[in-house]
Amino acid sequence: MEDPLSKYLNHHKRHGRLYFGPSQGICYARSMSARFDKIVLVTGGSSGIGAAIASEFARRGCRVAITARDLTRLGTAADKMVQNGAQVRAIACDVTRREQVRRLRDSIREFWGDVQILVNNAGIARAVSFADMTDETWDQTLDTNLTGAYNCCKAFLPAMVKVKWGRILNIASTTAKVGYSHVTAYTASKHGLLGLTRSLALETARQGVTVNAICPGYVDDERTRENARVMAEKTGKSVDDILRLFAASAPQNRLIAAGEVADLACLIASPEMSGMTGQAINVDGGAVMV
Ligand code: NDP
Repeated sequence: MEDPLSKYLNHHKRHGRLYFGPSQGICYARSMSARFDKIVLVTGGSSGIGAAIASEFARRGCRVAITARDLTRLGTAADKMVQNGAQVRAIACDVTRREQVRRLRDSIREFWGDVQILVNNAGIARAVSFADMTDETWDQTLDTNLTGAYNCCKAFLPAMVKVKWGRILNIASTTAKVGYSHVTAYTASKHGLLGLTRSLALETARQGVTVNAICPGYVDDERTRENARVMAEKTGKSVDDILRLFAASAPQNRLIAAGEVADLACLIASPEMSGMTGQAINVDGGAVMV
């Protein structure tokens, strides 16, 4: 089966946004989407939404650092992006570990300079009833999805404030706005991430920095398929039936492509979008309208 990153890159090729040049098989962009040269960090950039976001920033001319814990998967993702002529660096880091986040900051600074666009995307989700959830699941979920984003904001914001320009984008979820059953830790972490987004947006409003969140619905990626497999086992339904149920939970009756989230991320982070801050934009086929 095509992995999500290849699927994303192939999608752009099919739709004329990438093509292979006559020499060296170089693949580059020909879309009209705005190009800008910024230094970007995407946490959780080795798969799914994070890999799509990193690819899109790279395609638009940014220098992109991607981070995650598993260096092998990270390297594979970076290799695919680099094949398309992009400037991408893979640096392993666990966002829950503050000293690792500081080392990550120093290493990007040494190589390219200070991060100008921070995308807090790293996240974990475990579906389990509140009664069966372990303390460990609660702690890990909050540590990764909320404190991980806090750790990165703490490390990367000061340099943005210093030069009076920066973008922070938090990849939340529709669960940041409404409750869903069997994901209490995840929902709490994403509600918290939205609180962080809004309060930090206020504090940085006059410092040239914008802080926004994107709230995707069910995205057509490996994680959603894994969730569907777990639910299929529990309910006796087929994986395809579960995926159809996920799709049907949105008025558009479809899953969201990771590339749609990536396009929005680039738009919000673009130099032109200086007036939008403290917002949380849903990309969910109309499922949540608050
Ligand atoms: P994936 O599971 O595909 O990717 C998660 C990424 O985060 C991986 O690169 C993983 O790498 C990394 N990661 C996890 N824990 C840490 C950590 N402690 N430190 C650094 N990196 C970490 O997830 P998705 O692409 O599906 O999700 C990305 C984001 O989008 C998440 O925040 C998720 O909550 C959100 N989202 C996803 C939706 C979906 O339908 N898929 C819907 C709505 C929101 P590694 O394990 O190697 O560290």
